Amino acid sequence: MRKRALSAFSVLLFAVAFSLPSSAEEAHRELGAHVHGHGTLNIAVEDNRVSLELEAPGMDIVGFEHAAKTDDQKARVDAANGILQRPLDIFVLPAAAGCTVTSADVKVEAEHHDHDDDHDHAKDEKASGHDHDHEGHNQFHATYELACTTAAQLANITFDYFKHFAGAQGLTVNVVTSKGQSKFEVSRDKPTLDLGGVL
Ligand SMILES: [Zn+2]
Repeated sequence: MRKRALSAFSVLLFAVAFSLPSSAEEAHRELGAHVHGHGTLNIAVEDNRVSLELEAPGMDIVGFEHAAKTDDQKARVDAANGILQRPLDIFVLPAAAGCTVTSADVKVEAEHHDHDDDHDHAKDEKASGHDHDHEGHNQFHATYELACTTAAQLANITFDYFKHFAGAQGLTVNVVTSKGQSKFEVSRDKPTLDLGGVL
């Protein structure tokens, strides 16, 4: 319960701090859907094993969220998949931690709506003048397992993620270790996360 309340509070803070002008985007957020420009990275550290889970809107990664149709769109998805298969290139870890990738799984997932929702959604967007692609809100979902020699040396993470993906503006980073849970925000302007104290 406490976690849920905190999470709702931080979403509210985010909305106030950035005061996005689009009412459609706010409605989107209330429904629990993704927010363009903003993804989530979950990190779990257990002994020398590190699990990562990234969820990011298609808009952030390839600049569109419908199924790839043109050759250019297909090439962009392939290139993004190639980069996302190499988590240590996008989430750069200290060499001293000695981490290697033991598994990487990247999927594109659709956000599902039933038909009634789709109808209301379309109407709302039309009313707000928001230019949204009605075909879907695909998002990238990647999961990784790392094996490290010394996970205690994971003092920081540099998010080259923002260099690779031009549409990405921010990530909420949830870190779970034997010491507990912590929540951070990193952004294009502040792409480094200091993990001192949470490991
Ligand atoms: Zn979307």
